[in-house]
Amino acid sequence: MASEIKKIGVFTSGGDSPGMNAAIRSVVRTCAYLKIECVGIYRGYQGMIEGDFKTLDARSVNNIINKGGTILKSARCEDFRTKEGRQKAYDQLIKEGIDAFVVIGGNGSFSGALLFNEEYGFPVMGIPGTIDNDILGSSYTLGFDTAINTVVDAIDKIRDTASSHNRLFFVEVMGRDVGHIALNAGVGAGAEEILIPEQNLGLERLLESLKRSKASGKSSSIVIVAEGDKTGKNVFELKEYVEEHLPIYDVRVSVLGHMQRGGSPTCFDRVLASRMGVKAVESLLEGKSNLMVGIRDTKLVLTPLAEAIKAHTEIDEELIRVSDIMTT
Ligand code: ATP
Repeated sequence: MASEIKKIGVFTSGGDSPGMNAAIRSVVRTCAYLKIECVGIYRGYQGMIEGDFKTLDARSVNNIINKGGTILKSARCEDFRTKEGRQKAYDQLIKEGIDAFVVIGGNGSFSGALLFNEEYGFPVMGIPGTIDNDILGSSYTLGFDTAINTVVDAIDKIRDTASSHNRLFFVEVMGRDVGHIALNAGVGAGAEEILIPEQNLGLERLLESLKRSKASGKSSSIVIVAEGDKTGKNVFELKEYVEEHLPIYDVRVSVLGHMQRGGSPTCFDRVLASRMGVKAVESLLEGKSNLMVGIRDTKLVLTPLAEAIKAHTEIDEELIRVSDIMTT
């Protein structure tokens, strides 16, 4: 692998997700294996601007594959959105002798990397790290699998109490303006209804479905509501609405919140992170840049960052159908 790249920087940016540490470990170890230097950049673009760097060798990433969060910390950085901020970041990278970087983050982090490359010709490679699974060019983002398992686990527990008291629970899950977490975890946990932004079925259908559910003899019901759901009502308003129209139901609300972003990554996320880290470093050394490592049909693929940041992934129509059939 002939390459001018002798030192690679790695950082995490935007919202954290389980699997980021496994990806950092993979980037660091791949660099060590290929005998090039690796530098950890702390707090994303903020740390880049401030020169918050630390050389990482293979041993410095011991025992982190199983840890949630990110040892390099993450941050949002307004300064990097300005020309002056990016100039400072570039100066710091050059001072440190960093020749290329791997950014582990979401759409925003990739937009920054792309702009940086356009301005300075600096080689950049992306690894998608977000629980929302909302990045085009990868069927799975790091942290998504862990998040849906966390949600399923939580719903299983909620179901225990729901069925003991014959209650209806509205459970709000993360996902920003996409419904991947809601749909997958909803099917996995056997939810009665799943409200996702991609499919506004309306409140009438929700009432009909709950009526049917009661009539069919179900003792409890779980309705998953994606945070970006488009019914026009949040989970607390949905509770009031249902109590008003179907007083037969005793309704409770549970907002799962940030617990969905934490926790030890699943084996799937750890393996995916390990594979993506290797691919990211090797691709940079092959002279590639402005790309994101993703996975499609079990194979790693590279997608231009410009594509990756363009659009959200499509919701799985087949899974919606499966969900409809399962709620019969
Ligand atoms: P998440 O999906 O968790 O939100 P993200 O990577 O999309 O992750 P953002 O907050 O959107 O998170 O972006 C992270 C950082 O990337 C920003 O704080 C900013 O420093 C940088 N960034 C985002 N968009 C741009 C842009 N258009 N130009 C320059 N820098 C940007």
